[in-house]
Amino acid sequence: MSIRDESYARELDAADPLSGFRDRFHIPKRTDGSDVVYLCGNSLGLMPKAARDVLNQELDGWRDLAVEGHFHGRRPWYAYHEQLREAGARLVGARPHEVVFMNGLTVNLHVMMVTFFRPTAARNRILIEDCAFPSDLYAAQTQLRHHAIDPAGGMLRTAPRPGESLHRAEDIEELLRREGERIAVVLLPGVNYFTGQVFDIERITAAAHRAGCVVGWDMAHAVGNIELRLHDWNVDFAVWCSYKYLNAGPGAVAGCFVHERHARDVSLPRFGGWWGNDPTTRFRMHLEPEFKPVPSADAWQLSNPPILSMAPLIASLAVFDEAGMPALREKSRRLTGYLQELLDAELGERVQTVTPRDPASRGCQLSLQVNDAPRELLRRLNEAGVVCDFREPDIIRVAPVPLYNGYQDAWQFVRALAHAV
Ligand SMILES: *Cc1c(COP(=O)(O)O)cnc(C)c1O
Repeated sequence: MSIRDESYARELDAADPLSGFRDRFHIPKRTDGSDVVYLCGNSLGLMPKAARDVLNQELDGWRDLAVEGHFHGRRPWYAYHEQLREAGARLVGARPHEVVFMNGLTVNLHVMMVTFFRPTAARNRILIEDCAFPSDLYAAQTQLRHHAIDPAGGMLRTAPRPGESLHRAEDIEELLRREGERIAVVLLPGVNYFTGQVFDIERITAAAHRAGCVVGWDMAHAVGNIELRLHDWNVDFAVWCSYKYLNAGPGAVAGCFVHERHARDVSLPRFGGWWGNDPTTRFRMHLEPEFKPVPSADAWQLSNPPILSMAPLIASLAVFDEAGMPALREKSRRLTGYLQELLDAELGERVQTVTPRDPASRGCQLSLQVNDAPRELLRRLNEAGVVCDFREPDIIRVAPVPLYNGYQDAWQFVRALAHAV
């Protein structure tokens, strides 16, 4: 049997120990009632079926208990965020007191920068990657302006070498050796959203620390995609959103990691709000005029958690706990490897993959460069029931997600692509 046969894909699905998880998700349908080929979990993850129940429980609690729901519901709202931290910590390789779910990703980035970007005359720059995700770029620009620093001089960029599209860890190390003493914060993505490249987080974090910088990682495309060990890698802080690989719904509540050497330091400067205060005195209100940060990542919380948008996270993180990141990553390696192999076999030179070939340097996403009329190509793929996305100027991103995609999805995509090009 050849890799090009559909029956081969079917056999791989049959042998996949995680194939049952697909049934935990709602898969959008074509007009004929069959499942679409959904390869867009890097943008918005599919809805876990259990999300509706968890959300309904909170709606019922609101209806039946009203204010009493803060303390007497099945999952008391007062400590709702605390119910997410153990599963969140397992997901990113952290200790529970290092993780908090709150706000949106970009808000968390700013909240972290308030604490960790403390420019001095000698050390006042932010290092980011060239072509960073716009929100991260805008956050860095406006943080600099907030401190009256011109981004033209205050922002340093690391870029691929001319003619290349991937970053090299040794180039980032070299830049840190050369310029590190003037850099306050290094802000990089765990996985680049455009190319799907995985950064060597441990190695770059160590190099930045040698240069005396604080290191923050944007894990938007890394969390739920690759295995993370944020605590052991000694990352200072990290932020991520929950609507991509975490499947927690559009605009879901985001996550934040603060290494315990900072999380326990209640003397750090920060913006404060009552939910960052020690919970034992939080409700003493005006009797407690002095902000007492709780010695954990929770101290960066400002407002009480938005229960209705947090509820789906409970369902979503439970699925990750059940499957486990090591097993998911193992399947992901195979599935994306199969997709790449099949692309090579069916399309050869007609489509170039920008994503690294080395499985350790990519997650599930492949970014395909299509030179001729990429928008028209995307339209044809959509007509064939394939959902993937296009990023200017010429990249189609496809992400077979190990929780709910299978080998037949990859096979169907490649067939549709071969027809469309
Ligand atoms: C998806 C993504 C964001 C989105 O930011 P929000 O605050 O969640 O809207 C930011 N940065 C990166 C790198 C992303 O991939």
